[in-house]
Amino acid sequence: MATDLTGASTELLQALIRAECVNDGTPDSGGEARNVDLLHAYLEGPGVELSTYESRPGRTSLVARLEGSDPAAPTVCLMGHTDVVPVNRDGWSRDPFGGELINGEVWGRGALDMLYQTATQAVAFRHLTQRGFRPKGTLIYFAVPDEEAGGTWGAKWMVDHHWDAIACDYLLTELAGVAMPSTDGTRKITVTVAEKGIAWRRLRVSGSPGHGSMPFGADNAIITAAEIVRRLSAHRPQAGLDDVWRATVEAYEFEPELTRRLLDPTEVYAALQALPDQGTATMLHACSHTTFSPNVVHGGVKSNVIPDVVELDVDIRTLPGVTGDEVDAALHDAIGDLADRVHIGRLIDDQSTASPLDNPMWHALAARARAAYPGASLLPQLEIGATDARFFRRRGTVAYGTGLFSADVTYEDMISRFHGNDERIDVESLRLTTDLWLGVVHDLLG
Ligand SMILES: [Zn+2]
Repeated sequence: MATDLTGASTELLQALIRAECVNDGTPDSGGEARNVDLLHAYLEGPGVELSTYESRPGRTSLVARLEGSDPAAPTVCLMGHTDVVPVNRDGWSRDPFGGELINGEVWGRGALDMLYQTATQAVAFRHLTQRGFRPKGTLIYFAVPDEEAGGTWGAKWMVDHHWDAIACDYLLTELAGVAMPSTDGTRKITVTVAEKGIAWRRLRVSGSPGHGSMPFGADNAIITAAEIVRRLSAHRPQAGLDDVWRATVEAYEFEPELTRRLLDPTEVYAALQALPDQGTATMLHACSHTTFSPNVVHGGVKSNVIPDVVELDVDIRTLPGVTGDEVDAALHDAIGDLADRVHIGRLIDDQSTASPLDNPMWHALAARARAAYPGASLLPQLEIGATDARFFRRRGTVAYGTGLFSADVTYEDMISRFHGNDERIDVESLRLTTDLWLGVVHDLLG
């Protein structure tokens, strides 16, 4: 049976890759209706209620529901996005939309992000319906467009306009599931439980215009802005060291003194600076701090005119619990006595989201991880970027990024292939992930 399902997952994944639903960020790209057609045909069957929703031409969502018998039982939603990011064909050793199966691996854009989940979730859902599974709580399969451009025409639109179709207590989606080895021989399975927020700010720095030939004593906005950038880069916001941070640090199995320093809010910054691997340090810094990165500057009009205004865009990524007002207060703090020279404009305020860890879904995921990898435990993670899970968490849903990779897929493999060249996934990971969905649905709804 497991072999049959793995074959089905492989074939469906290949078909989804070949449909080439590339989202380049423009509203009319994606064409996810092609993948929805495939999935609709695959899922049709007795007892299955299928609905499609079109936010824009070609940007279709598919919802499949298997209604539960007990209104008090929880509703579980398996959500996969159907779009993929563009490719640079020159960097690939295979056709990125060929969906080829080579030496036990399916190749193609979206193999990891996240069509393998979209495919295995559909295979698990169909398997359950064909077996006549009668869930206590409702099971939903949700194939969603436009994740790769922020969910405007996908998850956000569906949550805003058709919440009744997808409302759920638990949501399982991307991105995690790496089986990280521990020195004791067991595995730690990554689960995304929270995502950082986005708080983009435009700082408008003012000065006074004048002739560029007479700079003495001038009120030059570029010079003020340069000092503000320097202060922002020197700003050391307080680290946020919660349970997820502790779990992350412990998973690295550093020597005890380094672990201790990384868990101490007064020492964590210096400890990060002393880490030998820059990539690890950068990642761990982002996981433990609200970050401020001045990334765009516009100012000045002509070489002989002293500029009276500079605009400075700062990319700020917030930890769970940090509000927009706290971001502005932190900016004021960092800018200090130049604050009255600056107007802070809000470009985006998209607060961080987090889900709790002690609930039946968490325990079911842990049990299924142990079934696949004896002795395994779950490793909760904070996602630096954003996924569609955030829209659900804001509605009170417990949302996790999950999956289950084979031991052959390392953390580094996953990071480098995400949106990268030669994206691919091994068939064993398809088998493990299909089994994971079936297992947790059985535990929660059976
Ligand atoms: Zn994704």
